[in-house]
Amino acid sequence: MAKPLHNPIAAAEMTLLTFRFAPSPNGDLHLGHAYSALLNQKLAARADGRLLLRIEDIDTTRCTPQFEAGVLADLKWLGLSWEEPVRRQSEHFAGYQAVLERLVREELVYPAFMSRGEIRAFITGSEKRGRDWPRDPDGVPLYPAADKALPLKERQRRIAENTPFAWRLDVDAAMARVGKDLSWIEFVDETLSATRSADARPQDWGDVIVARRDIPTSYHLAVVLDDALQGVSHVVRGQDLFSATGVQRLLQQLLDLPQPAYFHHRLILGPDGRKLSKSFSDTGLAVLRHAGASPDDIRRMVGL
Ligand code: GLU
Repeated sequence: MAKPLHNPIAAAEMTLLTFRFAPSPNGDLHLGHAYSALLNQKLAARADGRLLLRIEDIDTTRCTPQFEAGVLADLKWLGLSWEEPVRRQSEHFAGYQAVLERLVREELVYPAFMSRGEIRAFITGSEKRGRDWPRDPDGVPLYPAADKALPLKERQRRIAENTPFAWRLDVDAAMARVGKDLSWIEFVDETLSATRSADARPQDWGDVIVARRDIPTSYHLAVVLDDALQGVSHVVRGQDLFSATGVQRLLQQLLDLPQPAYFHHRLILGPDGRKLSKSFSDTGLAVLRHAGASPDDIRRMVGL
């Protein structure tokens, strides 16, 4: 058999650091997004690496082509450049579906039928009996997981009857499968010179949604699959996603995906000291641009 030739370009690509900026086009970009995008660009340039842009538009009701056009226009105006093609998650549902089917086969997810109202009533009932219901790091009550014990026949009957449901991760089964403590490599600061080990605590989120009946993925599932598929070596994103990384590490482990290193950067806060949201019109990039701000002004405003 012929020996494979050493291919220096392929070898170089393997060590090329890959960064990504992954906005959701469900509103206008604000200063927080600008900081994240520009920081990714700066780190990729310094490492002589790649910068990818991924449009996270699986929520087909909230994400629109108009918002996406606005995102692209704002990023170009800021001076960001990225490798083409842009990956648009809504174009890859078949790929997510295949992975979801694997999780279903391996009994790591289950169909969860409780509506929001039923969840609320269940939790209120439990709290009335004097028990504080556990909440996730965002303050949302954990899913009661009552229907995890539903017999297969009953699940099939409800699905056949078109009862609404979401696929939820059976976090206990998943942790048992992985069978070890999970951690990830977190950079200490934006020089990306030193790292520390961060503990993943996916149980803190309970049985998270992995896919919906009509959308075969969720934020967590799509993000880990795409980061792996796109060869992302460095995930640089806001501190608000720090503890969600625990869920993503668990999914990576279950699906045998490589693990990137992470840096969760500081958040740009509003005048009231709170996290910026897409509804803050005075920190929107388009608004600032129309008011006469230049890309350099934006860099200064976010401290870059
Ligand atoms: N699409 C997510 C957002 O806009 C970011 C996901 C990520 O960077 O992992 O908040």
